[in-house]
Formats: sequence, structure tokens, C-alpha cells
Amino acid sequence: MSRQPFIAGNWKLNLGPEDASKVSAELVQALAGHRDVTVAIFPTALSIPSVVRAVAGSEIGVGMQEIESVASGAFTGGNSAVMARAAGCTYALVGHSERRQLWGETDARCGDKVAFALASGLLPILCVGETLAERRAGRVEEVVTRQLEAGLSAIAPDQVAAVTLAYEPVWAIGTGETASPDQAQAVHATLRAWLRAGHGDVADDIRIQYGGSVKPGNAKELLACPDIDGALVGGASLRAESFAGIVAAATA
Ligand code: PEP
Repeated sequence: MSRQPFIAGNWKLNLGPEDASKVSAELVQALAGHRDVTVAIFPTALSIPSVVRAVAGSEIGVGMQEIESVASGAFTGGNSAVMARAAGCTYALVGHSERRQLWGETDARCGDKVAFALASGLLPILCVGETLAERRAGRVEEVVTRQLEAGLSAIAPDQVAAVTLAYEPVWAIGTGETASPDQAQAVHATLRAWLRAGHGDVADDIRIQYGGSVKPGNAKELLACPDIDGALVGGASLRAESFAGIVAAATA
């Protein structure tokens, strides 16, 4: 069993078309010749065309931060997975904690979106993670497995291998506070055990990223854990130098 590390940068609502193009071009340069790591960036929707152009010919993939579970229609402000694919995206984030908290995204909606992403030809990254209150109440396992079960509930068993998971403890996102490698590894092992119980050996192939204040300085330790297969990076992905530093940590 060997899972290629997967480092993804979530730019959130940052970097408009011009800046996104500049950072993407810097990343292409910084990552030229990088081997054996999957890399993707998730620009804000308006910057996707300029990023797709800037990374063309490189190994860097592009993803959509948010999709609807329909292709088109009367959904003002929505983003279509089908159109994202046509615009050059390969991936889609589903269930990021900001979407769950600020937009009220439910577990069931996340399940629909995972299914629709796959049906549209996008590879989903399904985000799960507990709040600080849930951690303090000893509910980490219950919360993340509930989110995982719902996230995979609308797809066929043979589609599960196409999903990447991201464990992102809500209390570690954008706070500068990182889960310790032991804390993160424990949850990743729980997620993999859940996958093994329901889906057998596919559990060995699914990549589980860690997300929550990952930086070049802490990436190596986290990525050395046996069940941590990459990182979903917010703040530190906004600069090519720091994002490339995390990719380098995954390569080493
Ligand atoms: C994220 O937005 O998914 C994230 C992990 O952010 P940060 O790295 O800034 O904590």
C-alpha cells in the first residue's frame, strides 16, 4: 500500500484574477520538477479561468471551492460542477467547515454534492472535523464518522475510492493552532478504520489530508504520521513560497 501525498491549497475568498494568476505562475516555477506529490489549488470561482491558464502544462490541478448538486438552473449565486469541469477544474471541495457553519451546509447536502461532483467528472475532497466544544465533550469520533457516513451515503461502493478526505478540526482552521501529530493521527486512524469496516481494502487507497494551520514548519511532522496522506492548506497556500515549502515537506 502506498498513497501518494496530496497537498491542496484552499485560497478561500482571496486572490482575485490578477493576483491568483501571479501566485499560480510562481507556484509553477517553485514546483517545477516536483515528483510524487499530487498538488491542487482551489481559487475563488472568479479566478478559476486565470489560474487554469497559468498552470496549463504543469502538474498542478485546479479545484472549485464549492459546488451545487445540480448542473444548472434557477440557483442564483450557485456554482455548477459541470461548468467547473468545463472550465478546467479537476477537483471540488465539499463540506468545508466554513460552508457548514456560515451557509448551514448539512451532512445530507454534502452527500448529494459528493455524488454530483463525481457524476460531473470532478474528484471531491470531503471535509470533516469537530468543533472545540465537540472535542471537549469527547464527541470527536461520533462527529467525524457521522459526517463521513453522510458524505459517502449517496455514492456507489465502487465510487468511494475516488474520494479524498480531509480531517480539519474546526478549532485549528485559521487559528494558528494545529492539532498535534498524535491528535491528528488518532482521528485519521479512526476514519480509516471506519472505511475498512464498511468498504474493505479500499481504505488503504483513500487519501486522508489533515487541515488546520499547516505551515512549512509543522508539515513534515504531521505528514510523517502513517495515516496522514497530505494537507489541505488555507493561509499558508496564499504565498507560493510557503505552499511550495509544504509540498517539499511531503516530497521528503
Ligand atoms: C482551510 O481553510 O481548509 C484551512 C485548513 O485553513 P488554515 O490552513 O488557514 O488553517
